[in-house]
Amino acid sequence: MTAFSPFEETLWHATAIPAPETGPLEGEIATDICVVGGGYTGLTTAIELRRRGCSVVLLEAQEAGFGGSGRNAGHCTPTFTHFSLNDLRKRLGRERADRLIARQTRGADMAAEFIRHYQIECEWKQNGYFQGALTPGRMAAVQSLAESYASAGCPSKVVDAGEAERLTGSRRFHGGWLLQSGGHLNPLGYARGLARAALQEGVQLYTRSRVNAVERSGTRWCLRTSDSSVLCDKFIMATGAYTDGGGLGVEKTYRIMQALIAATEPLPPEVREQVLPFDGTMHDGCGDIFVYKYDRAGRMVVSMIPLGRRGRDRPYTKKLLMDRLRWLHPAVPEATRWAFYWTGELDMQRETIPRLYALGPGALACTGLSGRGVPTGTMLGGILADWAHAAAPEDLPLPVERLKAAPAYMSFAPSLMLRWYGLRDRIAAFRDGAELPPRA
Ligand SMILES: Cc1cc2nc3c(=O)[nH]c(=O)nc-3n(C[C@H](O)[C@H](O)[C@H](O)COP(=O)(O)OP(=O)(O)OC[C@H]3O[C@@H](n4cnc5c(N)ncnc54)[C@H](O)[C@@H]3O)c2cc1C
Repeated sequence: MTAFSPFEETLWHATAIPAPETGPLEGEIATDICVVGGGYTGLTTAIELRRRGCSVVLLEAQEAGFGGSGRNAGHCTPTFTHFSLNDLRKRLGRERADRLIARQTRGADMAAEFIRHYQIECEWKQNGYFQGALTPGRMAAVQSLAESYASAGCPSKVVDAGEAERLTGSRRFHGGWLLQSGGHLNPLGYARGLARAALQEGVQLYTRSRVNAVERSGTRWCLRTSDSSVLCDKFIMATGAYTDGGGLGVEKTYRIMQALIAATEPLPPEVREQVLPFDGTMHDGCGDIFVYKYDRAGRMVVSMIPLGRRGRDRPYTKKLLMDRLRWLHPAVPEATRWAFYWTGELDMQRETIPRLYALGPGALACTGLSGRGVPTGTMLGGILADWAHAAAPEDLPLPVERLKAAPAYMSFAPSLMLRWYGLRDRIAAFRDGAELPPRA
């Protein structure tokens, strides 16, 4: 078994709704479609397939939400991480990119629909996503983001310094970008709620059922766990960064990047009135990707990508995170300590958009959500269900490619990129005579 970060250390493990009662697959069963992986991608795919009338078995190696879906920071920001919308249009072609953009930018609304329809208790709040501009020069980039997402039909606008302070409680911002469709949630609660929804829709969901081997059986596929098997017409690997076996080479398609998260004890109500009063999802706008939000109890949950000493040295990292938070929000009491600290794995790909790989006739893998999995995993269900329902490849919003390994440079490219972003921020701050957060 592959070693991943400990699951039990997360805040969500302590606070999410319980998982539905499920157990391992026993014996041999047959189905139309087998989905492998019980994260957002696999669960929404299984639900969408049942809605289209297929019989579906879902096999999960551990438990629903064990992967990124149960341990992420809980931001549901329906945007793309790295590329602008125009970059995407150049990469995928205008028509296909516009279909993908339409789905991704609805990702938070789709999550809201799942949560409402299946009454999922997962602390869902859809109060918007704010990305701040800490230097005057950053306002041009913020303006361009706000305009491009508004032109794609999103509730997206630029706000001035006064409005930024009203939303965030921080006086540090020259303004920022507000995307009103952004939301946040308890990620494990959402995954477990989707697992309940899948069972309710008639998905045969088996946990502690790791797929070890896959073989062709006539015109069908046979997926084997340690002592049982599923015979199916089609299968979909939705195993993300937590791909563990299967013998298909899916884990070669991406490179793992760590992310780290820390959460305080609940902050007092009088502090919460001054710190992030809009209770949305928040990025301070720096390239080192410092993002934060509250959980329902009022704990502040912050996350970053490790780089150099950050992440490697835990006491140093905890101090850095607190210094950063208190620089942005001096109302956070000096005595505040981190009550939870955990890390997790991201499946990074060069394109930073999900990739679909053909594994054989009627067999597909989807990986590379690259850190935007809450909206992306949610919206992928419909795309993967369309694929399984024999949609013409050209009608899918993502191309189906031959399985290929991520280029070797992906081992260091994301950290080089982060270093470049840091340098870019420092140059911009120097040029504008502006201050940046400590050690940004
Ligand atoms: C620390 C951290 C913070 C993040 N923060 C955010 C955030 O704030 N917002 C956001 O949008 N995204 C965030 N992400 C990314 C997001 O969590 C992921 O992109 C998303 O959860 C991926 O969903 P998935 O369904 O594709 O895969 P996963 O949730 O990883 O699920 C894959 C599942 O497949 C199972 N599996 C693997 N191999 C097998 C096998 N052989 N047989 C059976 N089952 C198998 C695993 O056990 C796992 O449960 C974060 C990720 C991390 C790690």
